[in-house]
Amino acid sequence: MSTPLLSLTDVRKTYGRGDTRFDALRGVDLDIHPGESVAIVGKSGSGKSTLMHLLALLDVPTSGTIELEGQDTGTLRGRNLNRVRNKTFGFVFQQFFLTPNSSVLENVMLPLKIAGVPRGERRRRALSALRDLDLADKARNRATDLSGGQKQRTVIARALVNNPRVIFADEPTGNLDSTTGAVVADILFGLQREHGITLVLVTHDEELAARCDRRVTMRDGVLTAEDEAVAA
Ligand code: ADP
Ligand code: MG
Repeated sequence: MSTPLLSLTDVRKTYGRGDTRFDALRGVDLDIHPGESVAIVGKSGSGKSTLMHLLALLDVPTSGTIELEGQDTGTLRGRNLNRVRNKTFGFVFQQFFLTPNSSVLENVMLPLKIAGVPRGERRRRALSALRDLDLADKARNRATDLSGGQKQRTVIARALVNNPRVIFADEPTGNLDSTTGAVVADILFGLQREHGITLVLVTHDEELAARCDRRVTMRDGVLTAEDEAVAA
């Protein structure tokens, strides 16, 4: 098989120390392959978000290794780490909300600003991402003046604007009604199918998990079962 895009070996994460010490991940091995979609499921508190943050290089493990295309990421620091993350990943996370008083366009341009892309090109690429998400007519709206589904599509446009290889999404349909959730899911799987983007989704949504190529289940900081999808 090809080199995994991301490979975790015996990854552990401990929060706090002494009396408040908590072992959130207790030895996780996981490979994510280019172009696949993986659902991370499990009860609240089982370690899903912790695992996702480590996969996305937003946090560092207490021990164990995380490789990105065969390279150990443990030596990446500061600006190098930011550059790799910004170039490789797009985020659809609840805690990375839209900036409410900025326009939809400004919100989508933000990752390009961080990447140092000149303003004219930022605009062009952000408008193109908004067109892809059927939001071109909302570019000048304030982010607060959107429906839930439009906000989530804006977040996806922002996640896409850097042409990422992987999109990480934490409960992407969590706050949406089922019809809007299905639209958002269609968009994500369309990106996987048409652009080969790898999807890593944390979800409680059984339908969304079922559409992924593979699911892994977290339980008390370890992966318990890995149900390979039935070959299509
Ligand atoms: P999930 O996303 O599956 O609900 P999390 O990964 O958010 O689980 O959390 C796993 C466990 O780690 C929980 O018990 C949570 O309370 C604990 N935890 C998460 N983040 C921190 C933190 N920054 N400090 C201390 N404990 C934390
Ligand atoms: Mg969580």
